[in-house]
Amino acid sequence: MPERILQEVFGYAHFRGPQQAIVDHVVAGGDALVLMPTGGGKSLCYQIPAIARQREGRGVTVVVSPLIALMHDQVGALHEAGVDAAFLNSTLDWEQTQEVERRLMRGEITLLYAAPERVTTPRFLSQLDSLKERGKLSLFAIDEAHCVSQWGHDFRPEYRALTVLHERYAGVPRIALTATADALTRADIVERLQLESARQFVSSFDRPNIRYAIVEKKDPTTQLLRFIQREHEGDAGVVYCQSRKRVEEMAQTLRDAGLEALPYHAGLDAAVRQKHQDRFLREDGVVMVATIAFGMGIDKPDVRFVAHLDMPKNIEGYYQETGRAGRDGEAADAWMAYGLQDVVNQRRMIDESPAGEEFKQAMRGKLDALLSLAEASDCRRVRLLRYFGEHSTPCGNCDNCLNPPQVWDGTDAARKLLSTIYRVQQHSGISFGAGHVMDILRGRTTEKVTQFGHAALSTFGIGSEFTEAQLRGVMRQLIAIGALSVDAQAYNTLQLTDGSRAVLKGEVAVMLRESVSAPAERKKSRRDKPARGAPSPAAATLDTAGQARFAALKAWRGEVAREHNLPAYVIFHDATLAAIAERAPATLEDLQGVSGIGSKKLEAYGADVLRVCAAF
Ligand code: ADP
Ligand code: ZN
Repeated sequence: MPERILQEVFGYAHFRGPQQAIVDHVVAGGDALVLMPTGGGKSLCYQIPAIARQREGRGVTVVVSPLIALMHDQVGALHEAGVDAAFLNSTLDWEQTQEVERRLMRGEITLLYAAPERVTTPRFLSQLDSLKERGKLSLFAIDEAHCVSQWGHDFRPEYRALTVLHERYAGVPRIALTATADALTRADIVERLQLESARQFVSSFDRPNIRYAIVEKKDPTTQLLRFIQREHEGDAGVVYCQSRKRVEEMAQTLRDAGLEALPYHAGLDAAVRQKHQDRFLREDGVVMVATIAFGMGIDKPDVRFVAHLDMPKNIEGYYQETGRAGRDGEAADAWMAYGLQDVVNQRRMIDESPAGEEFKQAMRGKLDALLSLAEASDCRRVRLLRYFGEHSTPCGNCDNCLNPPQVWDGTDAARKLLSTIYRVQQHSGISFGAGHVMDILRGRTTEKVTQFGHAALSTFGIGSEFTEAQLRGVMRQLIAIGALSVDAQAYNTLQLTDGSRAVLKGEVAVMLRESVSAPAERKKSRRDKPARGAPSPAAATLDTAGQARFAALKAWRGEVAREHNLPAYVIFHDATLAAIAERAPATLEDLQGVSGIGSKKLEAYGADVLRVCAAF
């Protein structure tokens, strides 16, 4: 039966990866913990069991989710597929709430989405009690289950109270889902939600369609603009910045360059934030410039790029944020610019945080792992996956695989740099910042060098063969391996550390990627993309007539989406429209078997689609 539901309701031919096993397990009443990367297809893992069990007369599935802003669209998507669904959260008024409750008690709802704080109210629990008594409480799905863990980045105290589901409704199966892979978080979820006897389904975390690239930060604004204009004109994307101020500035810069860019951060009015999120979800080609406040649960499938202008705190954060690109499985980019200042800033934030030393040590370890990813000259994906405990081979779809960087031995430069820092400190009794140290090393007689008499040092000019870019690379690397530190309390001056000695003595080799003066250009575009107004990757292989049909279908979809007050992708994905355009259907039979057209959508939209296509 699950496979029939997949085809009939959702219009998909096959289950993906572990979906089938998960669905079978849950339909049969087993508990499950599902770890799957973003875009892996978690929703179907509980939606199909919900439908199957409802058809068996077992009643409603309650979906607990913290993503209130998205519930409307999620429920809308189920309605489009002909599934009875509803949500309960603070956006409903009293009357609407009562209406949903009445439908719930009458058994008219297959999937009920609810915020965690709602689920644990006495009122709601008593309604569940009565459903349970009548055997009409089928399943609990706990989405974004990592919210229960303090180790995760989205801790929600309300999630802790969800143990009531287990205690009060012992016989009702539960499925918990998350895209956070980290072993610590996983153990925490199991313990906090009492899922000890649940079967665990752990997927590979690879996202093969995402191309990873990390470039050296020079002039980030220009670099970003060039990246978007070259690769992603007209595409939807997310640009992450650290501060609200940067977000505002960058959104303005992109708008000035003619892009449809909107800011999003916690300092904006809730209404403005909601409006910007809606536009991002509903319109084509909007670029959201945001702090990390934006993104959890954004299920827009056609985000074509995620760009980081500032470095995240750790690999978990980086992977989760970049994971928002390409949920539809089509080619997408994860692009990050990073530089010495990022390293300094992140170190400082850790040093200055009020947390205990043990916690800080853990944070530094996580930061170091990200730094070494950024400095790596081998496959980025191999390193990312290794971080999550997976073994893989070079991917052929990251910057380092596509354009292997030159590597140079920076050991000599590192030793010269460290001894300069040592001499300066000895000579003047104080420490200096990166710029001045590099001037001494490169033998430049600046005003400051003269003022402090640093031209007399034995290390003055001993590094004249190195460029400033090379030396910055050396410093980043030294900071990454803990052989150098930056004192935030004292004007970002450079300090030797316990780890400096081994480098000075030549016991540690320092290998570096060659600094390139321009961001590495793509040798060849992976999709021969015509410049402006380029079609989405799904449509890249269509002939001219096909392109015209695709464009017309998109325009039609836009109208339907507006009428239904839903994002366009909820009606049909780009890939579905592209498949229709390619078939040039003349009859309803021609539409049968197109991925993404279930029976309800065929009935509702089939005739319209044929009419649109007939015009060509
Ligand atoms: P997740 O919640 O794991 O990030 P979703 O449940 O949003 O992922 O699914 C990602 C996309 O993949 C959705 O657009 C969904 O429709 C699609 N999808 C999921 N399972 C399948 C499948 N078996 N066949 C085709 N498309 C699928
Ligand atoms: Zn690679």
